[in-house]
Amino acid sequence: MQFTDVVGQEETKKKLIEAYTLNRLSHAQLFSGDIGFGGLPLALAFIQFIACLDKKEADSCGKCSSCLKMSKLAHPDLHFSFPVNSANDSKKKLSDDFLTEWRELLLENPYFELKDWQNKIEVIKKQCIINVAESQNIISKLNLKSFESEYKFLLIWKAEKLNLDAANKLLKLIEEPTDKTLIFLIAENTEDLIKTIRSRTQIVHLSRIERDLITLYLQSKFQLDPDLAFQLASRADGNITKAIEGFKDREEQLIFSDWFKDWMRNCYQANVEKMVRWVDELSSASHGRLKQMRFLDYCLNVVREGMLIQYGGQSLQQFQGEELLFIKKFAPFVHENNLIQMMELINEAHTHISRNAYAKVVFMDMSMRFANLLHFKKRKFVPQD
Ligand SMILES: [Zn+2]
Repeated sequence: MQFTDVVGQEETKKKLIEAYTLNRLSHAQLFSGDIGFGGLPLALAFIQFIACLDKKEADSCGKCSSCLKMSKLAHPDLHFSFPVNSANDSKKKLSDDFLTEWRELLLENPYFELKDWQNKIEVIKKQCIINVAESQNIISKLNLKSFESEYKFLLIWKAEKLNLDAANKLLKLIEEPTDKTLIFLIAENTEDLIKTIRSRTQIVHLSRIERDLITLYLQSKFQLDPDLAFQLASRADGNITKAIEGFKDREEQLIFSDWFKDWMRNCYQANVEKMVRWVDELSSASHGRLKQMRFLDYCLNVVREGMLIQYGGQSLQQFQGEELLFIKKFAPFVHENNLIQMMELINEAHTHISRNAYAKVVFMDMSMRFANLLHFKKRKFVPQD
């Protein structure tokens, strides 16, 4: 990672380079700010710069043997610590046990957040922390001499996830690091970091990234058209991770919209063969339970929107274009005679999926019952005397 790959933060880049050039580097620095402001890529670019064998004025060369290893996150003097799930049932307890996944995710997108990391290591519902065994491992590693670079580098991502024992164990190292060691802590909520650690570091405050820079980044990273990139950047509040999240949500919503359309067509036609195929697709392992649950949330929103269109209520304003056109066609099928049952059916499926029920059975059952509900007639209004 070079400085040029880091979006925005130009002032901070200058200050870091200046601190290095004037030999005023603090041995422990705390990069503080939202994950989407880019503390992780910035620290990596700075580390690569320091270790570069052919530095330019404002960036590493990107070509020397050190830069090549750094860019693959495989430099022997670059050490990482990050939260992992170290529950008793897990054999993997240290960051080193997850290095392959870490490198893959980081190389794909350095602006990821904790949720993406938990997804990557498949521990969505369990807590991830940096534990005392990890602190011990760090201390042992940093006691060794550096292999190739003048410095040893330790990067602690989500340092606020250091538990109390782990943080206390690291205190001495942070206060008096082993020779030629530079420690970079990256944290969003520095308040959650114990005071004694905070007070021993030099804090580098990161700022929001300019909207136009986020727009350009989205255009080049995901080949988005300029209008869409601008819209996403405008809602991101200077936070690249938020902008990427917005883009992924939108992509997923388009997939859900197609699933919903197919589902409703099959249900309306009561076409069992197509229903079975749809259920097979939705239940396939590649989608996973969490995605299936998000799809069911989407279905609930569509039914709600259909009801609002039908009865002239305030729109949820989540739907646009073709998606909205389809919901308008669907709306007449939602009425007071089946609305509650439709919502109960979807909620029930959501509960079953969340409790690990067999997805095929849940979705098939839901489809058959939904097909029946779609054909319920709207009750005629009969005024009472
Ligand atoms: Zn270099």
